[in-house]
Amino acid sequence: MATINDNYLKLKAGYLFPEIARRVNTFTQLNPNAPIIKLGIGDVTEPLPEACRIAMIQAVEEMGNHSSFRGYGPEQGYTWLREKVAAQDFQLRGCDIDASEIFVSDGSKCDTGNILDIFGKNNTVAVTNPVYPVYVDTNVMAGNTGVGNDDGSYEGLVYIPISTENNFTPAIPAQKVDLIYLCFPNNPTGAVATKENLQVWVDYARANESIIFFDAAYEAFITNPTIPHSIYEIPGAKNCAIEFRSFSKNAGFTGTRCALTIVPKALKVKAADDSYVELWKLWNRRQSTKFNGVSYIVQRGAEAVYSEAGKEQIKLLVNFYLENARIIREKLTTAGLQVYGGINAPYVWVKTPHGLSSWDFFDELLQNVNVVGTPGSGFGSAGEGYFRISAFNSRRNVEEAMKRITNKFKV
Ligand SMILES: *Cc1c(COP(=O)(O)O)cnc(C)c1O
Repeated sequence: MATINDNYLKLKAGYLFPEIARRVNTFTQLNPNAPIIKLGIGDVTEPLPEACRIAMIQAVEEMGNHSSFRGYGPEQGYTWLREKVAAQDFQLRGCDIDASEIFVSDGSKCDTGNILDIFGKNNTVAVTNPVYPVYVDTNVMAGNTGVGNDDGSYEGLVYIPISTENNFTPAIPAQKVDLIYLCFPNNPTGAVATKENLQVWVDYARANESIIFFDAAYEAFITNPTIPHSIYEIPGAKNCAIEFRSFSKNAGFTGTRCALTIVPKALKVKAADDSYVELWKLWNRRQSTKFNGVSYIVQRGAEAVYSEAGKEQIKLLVNFYLENARIIREKLTTAGLQVYGGINAPYVWVKTPHGLSSWDFFDELLQNVNVVGTPGSGFGSAGEGYFRISAFNSRRNVEEAMKRITNKFKV
């Protein structure tokens, strides 16, 4: 008799985005002409940079000739891409990361889940609250948690609150933790971590032989020059941290798919026989066995991100979204709302007015001004009373949405 991975049955039905869709559908059925503007989902809206398109078109042509056709590439990614990443994303920032420590993949979402393949089942796992739901659900699937609670949390996970009370800085929990997910600039709050904040975690991880999973998907949005772009800017991080990067948000690759996972060779974890094992070897083995690499065409597109033209185009793209975020912050502040984030990140985290719940505020905005955002409580219990507004949209939509909110939604 076949059996299933019963851990999947512990998962609470994907609640947040289906529930948003349900409420929007109900509303549009009653109000078919309502001019709804969606500032909810974290997907980019602007087209691919020209440098990336030119590189991919050329790569497609190469695939059409015997002399330049490519079959399977290296599972870890092509050296020409890994070397550019090592030089420009890391060595230029003083991070001693070698091309061989960079693994090219088809997404950070999958890698943040896949990484659990090389870790044991007895690790205590810590996430922030609110949190990117992928970290939580992949741990449920891997059997690293107990049952789910009504508020969307799971037994056995350690939740570290990030809120206005601690300036969105996750504190070391009382309980010892082995695996820690940190995402900065943060989705959903738009908060950033200083070097000092991250040093505390690196010191903790080294003292406790813990591993930090550092998700830097939004590093390109950092405008404050003192904020670190990589955890490897922190002394000691090479001994305790894996970093995830993605071309999704800086270069608009959400539909093109390319990302990076950095596993330093200095990273060692104890095996059952008490010997220390290089995580690099395990991840390399895992990728070589279960993954056959990212398409040549897409890797050429990603490589173009590091060209002079590419860098310029990406800066324009990021600045476009950051200007949206600035407009959102300014208009919502004018409307009397308390806003956070949106300076080094494409997300603005809004305190709901009059003590409204996240979902009540969602309904108010939907019904009064036909603007859709994301209720903070969907990212965890500590997100209750907050609301996420995404800067990923056209300037016109952002300006129109903010006009409606300032006109009608005076606090
Ligand atoms: C968008 C996003 C990513 C990127 O995921 P991809 O699979 O590379 O598109 C990673 N982490 C967070 C927190 C994100 O919001």
